[in-house]
Amino acid sequence: MARKIYHSRGSAFNEWHRQYSGIAAVDIDLVPCCEKCYEPLCLIEHAFDKGQTYKTCSVTIKLAKRSHIPAWLIFYNDPVTKLRVQKLSPTLGQIKSIQPYTFIKYLQKLQRNCPVCEGLKTIARP
Ligand SMILES: [Zn+2]
Repeated sequence: MARKIYHSRGSAFNEWHRQYSGIAAVDIDLVPCCEKCYEPLCLIEHAFDKGQTYKTCSVTIKLAKRSHIPAWLIFYNDPVTKLRVQKLSPTLGQIKSIQPYTFIKYLQKLQRNCPVCEGLKTIARP
């Protein structure tokens, strides 16, 4: 069962709902948002980098498309000295290795360009 493979022990709530069958759910790992109005700016799934080339992100992609915000998959090491990133939405990109600060700069750009606060019709693109 996937939940036994992919999830270590989580919160009491997660452990509680996982004991029941017929309830499908996923966690979204990170939702950067505007620090002024809390508008969601993108969706991020992340996983420890074991050299894998895939992580199931179906729900995240669907939410991003419906919300018209970008979604990313991030593979990270510990400590974080490099990232492998893949754009999931609006279009599926290739996995690219980048310096962590490059992604921080992208997130800061999103913060400076909140579509609600800045009256923009679209969200900032990398
Ligand atoms: Zn805002």
